Amino acid sequence: MSDLFASLAQQPDDLSYEHYRELIDTLNRYARAYYVLDNPIVPDVEYDRLYRELEAIELYSEFKDADSPTRRVGDAINTSFAPVAHKVPLMSLGDIFDDEELVDFNKRMLEATGSEVEYCAEPKLDGLAISLIYEKGVLVKAATRGDGTTGEDITANAKTIKAIPLTLHVMKDDMVHMIDASFAAQSIPDYLDVRGEVFMPRDGFKKWNEEAKAKGQKVFANPRNAAAGSLRQQDSRITALRPLTFNAYYIGQCDFENDSDHLPDSQYGRLQFLKSLGLPVNEHIKVVKGISGLRSFYESLGALRPSLNYDIDGTVLKVNDIATQEELGFTAKAPRWAIAYKFPPEEAMTKLLNVDFQVGRTGKITPVARLQPVYVGGTTISNCTLHNEEELKRLDIKVGDTVIVRRAGDVIPQISGVVKEKRDGSEQEVVFPKVCPECGSALEREDGEVAYRCTGGLVCPKQQCQAIEHYVERAAMDIDGLGERIVEAMVSSQMIHNIADLYSLSEETLSKLIIDTTNEKEEEGKVRLLGKVVAKKIIANIDKSRQRPLNRFIYALGIRDVGATTAKILAANFKTIDELMQASFEKLTSINNIGGVAATHIIDFFKEEHNRTVIERLLTEAKLDLQACEQVSEMSEDTKPFLGKTFVLTGTLSTLKRDQAKELLEGLGAKVSGSVSKKTYAVVAGTEAGSKLTKAQELGIQVYSEAEFIELLGQYNITLS
Ligand code: NAD
Repeated sequence: MSDLFASLAQQPDDLSYEHYRELIDTLNRYARAYYVLDNPIVPDVEYDRLYRELEAIELYSEFKDADSPTRRVGDAINTSFAPVAHKVPLMSLGDIFDDEELVDFNKRMLEATGSEVEYCAEPKLDGLAISLIYEKGVLVKAATRGDGTTGEDITANAKTIKAIPLTLHVMKDDMVHMIDASFAAQSIPDYLDVRGEVFMPRDGFKKWNEEAKAKGQKVFANPRNAAAGSLRQQDSRITALRPLTFNAYYIGQCDFENDSDHLPDSQYGRLQFLKSLGLPVNEHIKVVKGISGLRSFYESLGALRPSLNYDIDGTVLKVNDIATQEELGFTAKAPRWAIAYKFPPEEAMTKLLNVDFQVGRTGKITPVARLQPVYVGGTTISNCTLHNEEELKRLDIKVGDTVIVRRAGDVIPQISGVVKEKRDGSEQEVVFPKVCPECGSALEREDGEVAYRCTGGLVCPKQQCQAIEHYVERAAMDIDGLGERIVEAMVSSQMIHNIADLYSLSEETLSKLIIDTTNEKEEEGKVRLLGKVVAKKIIANIDKSRQRPLNRFIYALGIRDVGATTAKILAANFKTIDELMQASFEKLTSINNIGGVAATHIIDFFKEEHNRTVIERLLTEAKLDLQACEQVSEMSEDTKPFLGKTFVLTGTLSTLKRDQAKELLEGLGAKVSGSVSKKTYAVVAGTEAGSKLTKAQELGIQVYSEAEFIELLGQYNITLS
């Protein structure tokens, strides 16, 4: 909202001067943290909410204090930089957030022009505005926007950004076809003040933060802060290391020595002019007409947003005709001929209600934030991973805290910060458990690993289901009919606790298993009995599994780092499971292809009393026949662990190439498909993952991040160099 949109403002409930002052002071504090310290305290959505309330109070009251943020652009400049006075001020933009305001904006522009308005529609890049001064084609000064009239001198830093040309060149004839030729510059301007946005692409931001995390350094909350913090460095050698880039979007001033040279008379034409001089201009800029043009630009750019390699927080809609722009002029803060139509926010504030500790397939303990549901990035988020203990410490997060949830594009949501100033003393420390929250077994953390794991193995109830599912897999003991839903029902009803219990099941007992059909029929709370026919088949399949060879059994135990191939090697070297259970570290590592890590996991697994008891029962009560051993060879077709399972790869993978990931999966028997359906077994989601990830989440399909996928490959002895 700006003064243009006053007609749409609702009268606020509290029109007292105290409240008005409180809002100004709060917003000014937030603005200082954001603009001067590059370290925002609250997400933009919260700042915008309070700002709008302030605007509405000013509209419905007499209050108009001089230090109100509605009267200023940005905030005070950082005095550690030399000040630069802008000859032509750098303005802000009025904001709109919905279609009603868009209609209102278009109506006003229509009133001013009298006919259907042509707009130059541009992405609103989420970085920071700078002004570049070129004298006779040479970059002589670069400055931040600052408070609009005075900016900070960041010339040395800007010169390190490769996208910013140090000198301008007139486009050669053979290149002119790349732009609308009628707008191309004929000569280098004598003086050019060009405005544009410095921003950090998403891939660079992600890589930078990953490296900073690994080194225990401060990470940036989002790419905008990363760009602002990187550009406003005292040492330009530091800026040079940051992956920054630049797009030009406006001409502040342009003078020619030759009077016959002149600028194009449209915003779009001027952008083409800048491009012809070698300045980068965003590729998604379009000329559109009227309200329908504005709407379709907003929608198509919104659809493109997740796939872009940089953050945009909306569209900027500018009247294309420069003469009309001049007629409309400026408010104290922003042009009347342009507006920022913002996208729904990618960050939101909410409360951390609790932190649960989940036990994963390999016993990994993951803290999971339980949040007051919040709508962000197009979906409602109520749970969010907190990864590991290091992350808890890094965020310094407490139960009851107000937190910032970020969901950029379709990537997995994360907590990007804690709003510490909202603490009232009632917040509770998050205590990482000392033992497994499910079974009370000891937790262990290996050297170089950040995750703690439960050592309970086959006895931990959470791991029970996953261990049983793994045991019955085709490449393991191959027990057909025991899908995830049935295994879960058997464990939750305490019909079985571990793999040994499978063999004491009777047809009668199994037939009475109650299956929750909630997901099957979309009806909450509906159940059915498994029934005699299915139970009979399953019992017969369990019986058949007694004949599986030793290597399959070793693999089926689900020992970390013991994939199907390692299991074969072990079975070839130890004739019985007893022998393997007695093997020393030295003996194990003396075997070709058995490394120290796998050997340690094997020893630890058999050291656990619970595991020994289960194996003992499998041998004596269930009477498994583990004698015949398959030959050690290339993984044969039927031992491939993902045989018949469909994976979908989505988003950008940084360590692996897509093709490589596909090949590896196919080597493990998987089919790799391009679309997600109910039949999909798992999705591997890199960065910028889009609708496929959303669909997988909706269908409750297993999603692996790239790191988790690499860990999964590791379980099948595939390590990436
Ligand atoms: P703005 O960011 O809403 O809009 C103006 C800016 O848009 C310009 O300065 C320029 O940098 C940018 N821009 C990107 N693409 C552009 C294009 N194609 N053409 C023209 N400009 C383009 O306004 P502002 O005054 O810079 O900042 C206000 C916003 O900053 C608020 O709406 C809020 O979201 C955020 N803010 C947040 C906090 C916080 O604490 N989180 C504090 C202060 C401000």
